[in-house]
Amino acid sequence: MKYIPIVMLLLLAACKTPDVVTQAVVEPRENKVEITKPKNIVLLIGDGMGLSQISAGNYDNDNQTALEGFPVVGIHKCHSSSKLVTDSAAAATSFACGVKTFNGAIGVRADSTPVQTILEELEERGFSTGLVATSTIVHATPASFIAHNEYRKNYEAIALDFLETEVDYFVGGGKKYFDRREDERDLIAELKARDYTVEDYLTDFKDCELPASGNFAYFSADKDPLPYDQGRDYLVDASKAGLSFLDNHGDQGMFLMIEGSQIDWGGHANTPSYVLTEFYEFDIVIQEVLDWAKEDGETLVIVTADHETGGLSIRETSTMDSLDIEFISTHHTATMIPVFAYGPGSDLFSGIYENTAIYDKMRQALQLD
Ligand code: MG
Ligand code: ZN
Repeated sequence: MKYIPIVMLLLLAACKTPDVVTQAVVEPRENKVEITKPKNIVLLIGDGMGLSQISAGNYDNDNQTALEGFPVVGIHKCHSSSKLVTDSAAAATSFACGVKTFNGAIGVRADSTPVQTILEELEERGFSTGLVATSTIVHATPASFIAHNEYRKNYEAIALDFLETEVDYFVGGGKKYFDRREDERDLIAELKARDYTVEDYLTDFKDCELPASGNFAYFSADKDPLPYDQGRDYLVDASKAGLSFLDNHGDQGMFLMIEGSQIDWGGHANTPSYVLTEFYEFDIVIQEVLDWAKEDGETLVIVTADHETGGLSIRETSTMDSLDIEFISTHHTATMIPVFAYGPGSDLFSGIYENTAIYDKMRQALQLD
């Protein structure tokens, strides 16, 4: 009894499927190849912000995060050339330069030769460029976008590279590596001589007047800036100011890297509240950047982490109101890392890929080469 209707259905399907199938398969592929070119790229890096940090931050914040506003999600493999468990230097060099390198390496390949960063390339191509961090500005993550050194802790040498590339806007700690150096050079005076307006922690960031022309640098501390829950509050303001400063700095487009540096430090310290408060602040920055990009319409926003820190776990005894968090390590882990993308070119960021592909995808989105 059922036999005849099924045969009829099959016959019907056989007659009708050819053009339906062709259209259904071809159309999405064509759409994916056609990528709108962004004018600007904002890359947000939550240091040590693995999926469990994001999960904990989300539950701790009434079950919501700005990351839910990103339509494209991917995953990157974060291992370095020397270790399965990367450090921030090798990881940021992968994003900045598209190469796998050894732990501790800043803007150099696995064979220690320097490699041009995306910030340097875009600066050369006339883009406005910026770096904002809640670590020192010479710390591994921001340093990997502008400096070249075999050892991440050569902070004074890394500071010298800020005079090699004219990054238009930078905000972070580490003033002493610029003006209390072993070689007795005053790099702040040298920056000023190169058309930088330089401010420091003696003035609150929000009271700083950004120059109408020239470049801008702000030193938020002599060494490491404070944690967010101990009164550091410049990341949101410095990120928003960076967007409008760089947007008005030229017509070529901008590249801005913003780092929530201390999510990682909360993980190393195995202190849940440190991780959660740092994530809370970074999440506000992500929302601000996303809102700005939605208004702008020409900005590709990418949010990711370099690696996970601490092996953070949300235990079975947790509730939405009371998280029971445990760590398995005071170091980084090798867990793969989520990538969130919004805006023109964001489609490129879905799937699973090596961390070096983030560099390739940014260049592909901008249609460089
Ligand atoms: Mg970092
Ligand atoms: Zn770390």
